[in-house]
Amino acid sequence: MIRPILIHPDPRLKKVCDPVPAVDDAMRALMADMLQTMYDAPGIGLAAPQVGVTSRILVMDCAKGEDEQPEPICMANPEIVWTSKELNEHEEGCLSIPDVFANVTRPAAVQVRYLDRDGAEQERAFEGLRATCVQHEIDHLNGKLFIDYLSIVRRQMITSKMKKLKRERVRGAVL
Ligand SMILES: [Zn+2]
Repeated sequence: MIRPILIHPDPRLKKVCDPVPAVDDAMRALMADMLQTMYDAPGIGLAAPQVGVTSRILVMDCAKGEDEQPEPICMANPEIVWTSKELNEHEEGCLSIPDVFANVTRPAAVQVRYLDRDGAEQERAFEGLRATCVQHEIDHLNGKLFIDYLSIVRRQMITSKMKKLKRERVRGAVL
């Protein structure tokens, strides 16, 4: 089931999300919905608060191009256990902040510990786009957006633009 994606600003996008007590069928159903919603958008990552669920769940798939196999990853309670000293600047966007892109500097590689969709503990290293993506999604679980890395002035401009977009969407739905 495709779920509606919340658009910034929304108080649910600013909350520190709750740890998942167990990866049960309800969580697996949420992960499946989130993957479907992410592919449909389309995007390469989605965190539970973006669909209004303030639980520590994220999905991602950074496989690109038609000849690359899909690479869906579902994580519950992800935790960054190691970050590289080396940094990497990448242009980021967000499904909750449509049509806005900005360069963000983050560690170039990270090691993440998480529970997979079977509830098994995994530890995995990410680099390049995948490292950027997983850090962006984990930020969502802590109520942090990529625009929080930008200057206050730029962030306020983006927030006003999003408020206007939301007003227009509401009007569109009424007509
Ligand atoms: Zn995002």
